Amino acid sequence: MKKYSCVLFDLDHTLWDFESNSKETLHDLFHEYDLQERGITSFPYFFETFTRINTHFWDLYDRGLIGQEVIREQRFHKVLSEAGLDDFRFSLKFSSHFLTELPRKQNLLPHAREVLDYLHQRYDLTIVTNGFDETQSKKMESAGIKDYFQTVVTSQRAGSKKPSREIFDFALTEVGHTASNAIMIGDNLQTDMAGARVAGIDTVYYNPAGSPHQEDVTHEIKLLLDLKKLL
Ligand SMILES: [Mg+2]
Repeated sequence: MKKYSCVLFDLDHTLWDFESNSKETLHDLFHEYDLQERGITSFPYFFETFTRINTHFWDLYDRGLIGQEVIREQRFHKVLSEAGLDDFRFSLKFSSHFLTELPRKQNLLPHAREVLDYLHQRYDLTIVTNGFDETQSKKMESAGIKDYFQTVVTSQRAGSKKPSREIFDFALTEVGHTASNAIMIGDNLQTDMAGARVAGIDTVYYNPAGSPHQEDVTHEIKLLLDLKKLL
């Protein structure tokens, strides 16, 4: 096994349980805004609609086709209108409330804390994320994992986003390591795996569902706990 000194982590869907946290947040807001009274009868359908549209918007963002403001302003208009409530002003209010509440949620993916406890004693740990600056920082504070990391590199701060190699170079310069001493762990084949590979960084693909793929990754794991064996 190659000797690494620096471990780069993606945040959403890799350490921070975006699925559970967004579900809890939307469940709270569903009741707070009485969406049932406004014509959205089924929460599971509402959440399914959100997940599909949210994934689509982030994919467009990762590919450089839209900016963050489009996610902020249009994501919930699309979700709510597809679910049966077409009101742009209401969707803006809902979106802003969602972005305040979501990062307060604390669910992490299984074994995330145990693995961070183990790794931070042995490596310099860094987050590399395409998320919003203040949102990502708040998420890590809420979940109590901020202190494990030497630095948090967001696309906003780096001025470039995954999968471009610039954000990885920016992160390595900031922590004072080289690509050959680093390894990137993430759940996204394009942004995390292909991006790090182009930057000359070894990769660990976190693939809990065991989905088939063609990407060239250095290692692949189903459980975060497997990192203790790998590293
Ligand atoms: Mg991710």
